[in-house]
Amino acid sequence: MAAKRDYYELLEIPKGSSLDDIKKAYRKLAMKYHPDRNQGDKEAERKFKEINEAYEVLKDDDKRAAYDRMGHAAFDQTGGMPGGAGGFSGAGDFSDFSDLFGGMFNEFMGGGGQRSSEDINRGSDLRYSMNVTLEEAYNGGKQQIKFRASVNCGDCRGSGSKSGKRTTCGTCHGSGRSRIQQGFFMIERPCQTCGGSGEMIADPCNTCRGQGRVVQQRTLNVNIPAGVEDGTRMRIASEGEAGQRGGRPGDLYIFITVKPHSLFVREANDLHCKVPVKMTTAVLGGSMEVPALDGTKVKVTIPEGTQSGAQFRLRNKGMPVMKSGGRYGDMIIHTNVEIPVKLSKKQKELLNQFDAELTAASSPVSESFFGKMKGFFDNLKN
Ligand SMILES: [Zn+2]
Ligand SMILES: [Zn+2]
Repeated sequence: MAAKRDYYELLEIPKGSSLDDIKKAYRKLAMKYHPDRNQGDKEAERKFKEINEAYEVLKDDDKRAAYDRMGHAAFDQTGGMPGGAGGFSGAGDFSDFSDLFGGMFNEFMGGGGQRSSEDINRGSDLRYSMNVTLEEAYNGGKQQIKFRASVNCGDCRGSGSKSGKRTTCGTCHGSGRSRIQQGFFMIERPCQTCGGSGEMIADPCNTCRGQGRVVQQRTLNVNIPAGVEDGTRMRIASEGEAGQRGGRPGDLYIFITVKPHSLFVREANDLHCKVPVKMTTAVLGGSMEVPALDGTKVKVTIPEGTQSGAQFRLRNKGMPVMKSGGRYGDMIIHTNVEIPVKLSKKQKELLNQFDAELTAASSPVSESFFGKMKGFFDNLKN
């Protein structure tokens, strides 16, 4: 490797420059030597790489400090970090410029170009809407789903080519990109001919017509976590559409809808259940059985004088709490005292006799209400 030029010299700035000045200088030079503006100019390309290398070091406080102390020797042990493809930590570092130059940076930063064409060929994510009953949400477990989606072609193992042979795309000459001048800047997009891969398949596979994937009915067992909530989104990595010509597969997203239940209403991890109580049970007290989602019946004691709308909490009879290691919510019983209808003559007689025996003390709520009502009208008169 020839003697390397000083990074500050390359960016045409003094040694003590601020980060802002470094960025400004870099931006100016990057535009000047950008390969889009100097097509086929090897000298400009070399210069572009050099200023990128300088910028990569100087914009980073730690690397810059090391460079200031030791010069280029600071990076020797990294295996020829500058200039080589392996030296740059990835296209992500250039996010502040990626808007400006599009994917161009990936290409010149080395290694990144391949990645971006893979991203173009990456399979789409899939969304699957799954309906589960509250019982299924309670129990969790495996659920089988079936859907049509593309998978890697078995005949060509996803390559799209019979023999695996590929040729360079004639449209983009292998870059995978086409460029359109728009004002001052070149806008880049994936090459339409090769789909951004830069390559063409010499002998397309007959089964997939060179796409590397075919649409198939797929079956998948999905694990539903016990206690799953309505609206939960689960990501199953790499189970989306297969990528084109060996591109990465997309992900599968499962959106869970928990169907409404005829007996229970869920609120977070608690279950609410409206339970009718016979009038006589409510008056005299007693016990009754209520259903629980685990398929059992729970005996509930109804105390004497239970009113409509009373609530009883049954501990741990609610939904399993996800990722809690076996905790459960509660079930809350809301009583609804049922007034008997279609009474026989005898029943009415008995109730009339009962009514005649009623004293104020048996209906404290009525007493209190009518007491307040009297006060209300008395006030109006004054
Ligand atoms: Zn094929
Ligand atoms: Zn092309």
